[in-house]
Amino acid sequence: MSSLPASLTVDLGALARNFHTLQEVTGRPVTPVVKADGYGLGAVAVAKRLMAEGARTFFVARAAEGVLLREGIGSEPTIYVLDGAHGENIKLIRGSNLRPVLNQPSQVENWLSSGGGACGLQIDTAMNRLGYRVENAPEPFAGIELVMTHLACADEPSNPLNRQQRDAYAGVVEKYPGVTRSFANSGGCFLGEDFGFDVVRPGICLYGGGPEGKPHDKIAPVATLNAQIMQVREVPVGETVGYSQGFRPEHPVTVATCGAGYADGVLRSYSPKGQVWINGELRPIIGRVSMDVLAVDVTGLNVKAGDSVELFGNNRLIDNAASAAGTISYELLTSITPRVPRIYVG
Ligand SMILES: *Cc1c(COP(=O)(O)O)cnc(C)c1O
Repeated sequence: MSSLPASLTVDLGALARNFHTLQEVTGRPVTPVVKADGYGLGAVAVAKRLMAEGARTFFVARAAEGVLLREGIGSEPTIYVLDGAHGENIKLIRGSNLRPVLNQPSQVENWLSSGGGACGLQIDTAMNRLGYRVENAPEPFAGIELVMTHLACADEPSNPLNRQQRDAYAGVVEKYPGVTRSFANSGGCFLGEDFGFDVVRPGICLYGGGPEGKPHDKIAPVATLNAQIMQVREVPVGETVGYSQGFRPEHPVTVATCGAGYADGVLRSYSPKGQVWINGELRPIIGRVSMDVLAVDVTGLNVKAGDSVELFGNNRLIDNAASAAGTISYELLTSITPRVPRIYVG
């Protein structure tokens, strides 16, 4: 019996397969997004494996993430910081030889006045989030190595905004001859040849989430969240299970208390619609998810303390688990807390 109540198993072989799949689908080099600690899987472990598969450029969101990544993977790879160059983070960027993705005039000024150098530029073609508006795109200056934009609706292939963004981007990048063009996130990788530009920039599909928020036959599951059954009990009609009497059985039930709760990143919204996979079938999460444990209806199953249930993974696909919890795979992965050991296989 393992002594781990909850664990996240990361299949690096599946990660590598997804990396190659995305390169095959797009015919472009993949420059992985490893922000938020590699979507919760461990940015250094993920990046090291992807380097072994051929990746040379990575994206993080924060300068501090870039510093940790640089320490972990050495001086060779290129690391872009999506946040750009603002305030104090320029010191971190320079100290770890990172490249900022510059998003507005103040960032360009900061960057150039602190010495300039290799950087990226973000153009906003629909998100109204970060980046220069198309009509305000700056004149080229020395140091721009990459020009990128970000799709707002890549998970909806038929949304006409995808093509509008593509065309707006194609127009604006003409201003920057010779610069690497980076357009597609995971969803964008599946939109077709003319959405590829020079390099593609996926995150979630590397980590096993589908490009449209549902399982995709080309994308392999990577992360498996297991919780161990800690106790099994019979609950008669008339009693209740968990906080606030969250579950009232209508017939006698066998309840397994499993060692994962919201402090592990199992969102409270996993109940009441959530299910876990155990012994070849899906069983409902019952009552409220508490901080350290959750309850599963295992009536009729031959299970005992020490067995484990799968919250998501090879059997309970993460997009399905996310839909049941009213959210997206990205949030399920990035919610897994440091308390949960990451176990690397493959
Ligand atoms: C997070 C992010 C990505 C990766 O998106 P996925 O949908 O996970 O593939 C790419 N580009 C930018 C700017 C991002 O913020």
